[in-house]
Amino acid sequence: MAAIVTFGLLLIVGAGVWQIRAAAAPAAAPAARLTLDPAEFTGDTREAYTVAEKHPELLAQLDCYCGCEQHEGHKNLLDCFRTRHGAGCDICVGEAVTAGEMYESGTPVDQIREALRARYGHGG
Ligand SMILES: [Zn+2]
Repeated sequence: MAAIVTFGLLLIVGAGVWQIRAAAAPAAAPAARLTLDPAEFTGDTREAYTVAEKHPELLAQLDCYCGCEQHEGHKNLLDCFRTRHGAGCDICVGEAVTAGEMYESGTPVDQIREALRARYGHGG
C-alpha cells in the first residue's frame, strides 16, 4: 500500500516537473519574427519583406510616405512589413527595396532617409 502511494506521488511530482518544462520551453524556442515571411510573397514585394527581415533596425529609422502613418498609426517603415500592409503598397515596397540597396552598398542611414524623402515625400 505504501509503495503504491509513493509511486503515485512520484508520478504527480514527475508530471508537475514535466509541465513546468513544457510551459517554459515554447516561450524561448521560436525566434521573434518582427515581420512577415518573405517566402509568402513574390517579386519586389518579396524583396521588400526580405529587407525588413534582414535590416529591421534600418526600416525602424525610416518614414513611410504612403499615408499609413496617419491612417494605420504606423510609426516607421518597419511597421508596414509587420502585416500584409506592405504587400499592397508600391510606396512601402519601393522605399524598402531602395533603402535595402543603399544600406547594403554602405550608404549612411541619414542619406537613405533624405533620398526616400526626395523620391517619395510630398512637398519635401
Ligand atoms: Zn506604409
